[in-house]
Amino acid sequence: PVAWLNGEFLPQSEARISPMDRGFLFADGIYEVVPVFAGKPLAIEQHLIRLTQSLESIQHPNPLSIEQWTTTIEQLIEKNGGGDIGVYIQVTRGSYQKRTHQFPPLENTQPTVFMTASSLPAFSAEAIGNGFHAITSDDFRWGRCDIKSVALLGHCMLRQQSFEQDAIETLLEKDGWLTEGTSSNVFLIKDGRLLTPKADLRILNGITRQLVIDLARQADIPVEIRDIHIEALFKADEVFITSSTKDLLPIVKIDNKTVANGQPGPIWEKLTQTYQQLKSQ
Ligand code: PMP
Repeated sequence: PVAWLNGEFLPQSEARISPMDRGFLFADGIYEVVPVFAGKPLAIEQHLIRLTQSLESIQHPNPLSIEQWTTTIEQLIEKNGGGDIGVYIQVTRGSYQKRTHQFPPLENTQPTVFMTASSLPAFSAEAIGNGFHAITSDDFRWGRCDIKSVALLGHCMLRQQSFEQDAIETLLEKDGWLTEGTSSNVFLIKDGRLLTPKADLRILNGITRQLVIDLARQADIPVEIRDIHIEALFKADEVFITSSTKDLLPIVKIDNKTVANGQPGPIWEKLTQTYQQLKSQ
């Protein structure tokens, strides 16, 4: 793929940064993934707002204006041939001569700004129609999961657990409460109502999550955004996960227990159809 590093387009394989980069030393940086369908980014404004919020949370100025981000992303999409791709964006606090925990003075550092394109995971209609398996695990991640930080070791360790069990995602529980997946948000359907945990410090407020909530409201599906006990997963009529790169994926088995009748449900089906329409607009 063609990447973009600090103002320059170049082949991804040629991009280089310093080992003194604080992203490398401390995971002192944030990222964003903008999904692109048929060459068109979906909800780019929301992604750029979240990028700005992540930067504000780590006390870092936004290195580009919204217009500069938009133009650069459009150019990157074009240079990568358009189609269905994910645009990966990362901003770190850059490198400094000394490894210090406190942030170095802004005037002495240049952020590292990196973008690249990657293919989106492809799920066959058959796989989606059968539904996916998930497992649950203790959410031992840090206390600021609202920031889209590149410090993802906890996420990786927890995802590895489901990977080793041939499951698509690890659904996380903090003190008995459902939070999210390692790279997705989670929704339940119970008695015709759409339930999802509230977007506090324990989860990343997914853009797909926000789009799905809007679509549900437009379709007059009652939405409840609240604390959800982990056990509610096993009593739900439907469960599905959402992310920019995976859309809405139905979960039909959790910890080897079948969700309802073990088939993707009608409300997931309806929401996924309206989401596909939104993607192709
Ligand atoms: N939670 C976490 C921890 C994630 O990493 C992601 C995707 N990057 C999501 C939720 C879903 O967010 P989005 O819908 O914006 O892709």
